[in-house]
Amino acid sequence: MNTDRSAGLHERSSKVLPLGVSSGMRASVTDPPLFFERADGPYYFDVDGNKLLDYTLAWGPLILGSNHPQLNEAVTVALRKSYTLGAQHEGEIALAEKVISVVPGAEQVIFSNTGSEAVQAALRLSRAKTGRTAILKFEGHYHGWMNNVLLSYHPDLSEAGPTDAPNVLAGCGGQPPEEYAHTRVLPWNRLDLLERELAEGDVAAVIMEPLNANSGSIEPAEGFLKGAVELCAKHGTVSIFDEVITGFRLALGGAREYFGVIPDLSIYAKALAGGFSLAAVAGKREMFDALRDGSTMHAGTYNGATINLAAGLATLEVLSESPELYKTMSEHGRAIRETFETEARAQGVTLCTSGAGTVFNVHPGKETAPTDYRGYAEVDLDAYTRFRKAMLEGGLQLLPDGRWYVGATHGPGELATAQEAIRNTIGNLKA
Ligand code: PMP
Repeated sequence: MNTDRSAGLHERSSKVLPLGVSSGMRASVTDPPLFFERADGPYYFDVDGNKLLDYTLAWGPLILGSNHPQLNEAVTVALRKSYTLGAQHEGEIALAEKVISVVPGAEQVIFSNTGSEAVQAALRLSRAKTGRTAILKFEGHYHGWMNNVLLSYHPDLSEAGPTDAPNVLAGCGGQPPEEYAHTRVLPWNRLDLLERELAEGDVAAVIMEPLNANSGSIEPAEGFLKGAVELCAKHGTVSIFDEVITGFRLALGGAREYFGVIPDLSIYAKALAGGFSLAAVAGKREMFDALRDGSTMHAGTYNGATINLAAGLATLEVLSESPELYKTMSEHGRAIRETFETEARAQGVTLCTSGAGTVFNVHPGKETAPTDYRGYAEVDLDAYTRFRKAMLEGGLQLLPDGRWYVGATHGPGELATAQEAIRNTIGNLKA
């Protein structure tokens, strides 16, 4: 695959952008980082003329693919009316009503711009409501790049401490310990440890990815989500599902619908607006009392920006229009997972998969799916990198960590292409 023009642009971008790319996560996806001209449906077109079948969905948001006619129309109409108003408009009501109509148990919503921001809003609401300070998160779970949550995300196991009592480790330099002094970390899927911690009576909020998509799409253990939400209720702690990835993806109603469990608050971003910058926190009305009574605040110049909200409404309308859509997307993903598993057996490759149909992971080197971050840390990512390079040569673009995203524009033709590519390149996943 010719990448000369991308290499040239990376050289140029590195003079003016510190990493030559705009998000730390993108720096090592390909060498050189690819530069793109446009995207259409499930395809990306790079500056060297390569057309790539995309299963990254821009790390999640592009659930309707790119250049979607209804999304284009909604955004174009909104664009002619205003860019952003810094004031009220009916679009806020329309999208809030739509979110509430599809998210089980949601009665009110606040809007924000990114997942990272919405996480902070949810934590603040929890602290304001409970009058407590401590926050509990789980090893391997990602909740954005802020100092109080970018902790024990992908820690080096040599520093991570005992499995049952993980060290709280900063994710990068520049995170002063006093800024995460109130955050505690537990292994996921362990109700016994959670109960012990909550019994202290000082935890404001427990935050988790209901499907740990950021560490191998680890699935919740049977009864864990329900048990965790119930334990939180018992101990006066706010339960938060970070549905930035799972929201409007696992099902129209996200993880709440897919797993049948309703926490106090859920955080949405990514698929919510199909590629536009928009996030939301949803929950029961009482969860927002602290905003109404003025004991805390939530703000943002771009909160409720008209174009982004129009994109959100159009995305949710398209997603809710066709009752078959989630089934079709899930079957597509399940067929890819099955191809991996069948072909691995046929070609003597050790691997397994985990997750759902619309977001899942391939775990080279593992016979059974990980149940926590420590298990995911054993995945042979070097083998996956070799495989991913071969897939790219064959015209398929994948995320570096073994994760696949399936969207509405992945059809039978794309499935056949993906399956053929997997059969031809799976040998690269041998240790
Ligand atoms: N929470 C989760 C579960 C995420 O996956 C992400 C982003 N990958 C975030 C929060 C942060 O969202 P953003 O990048 O929009 O700030």
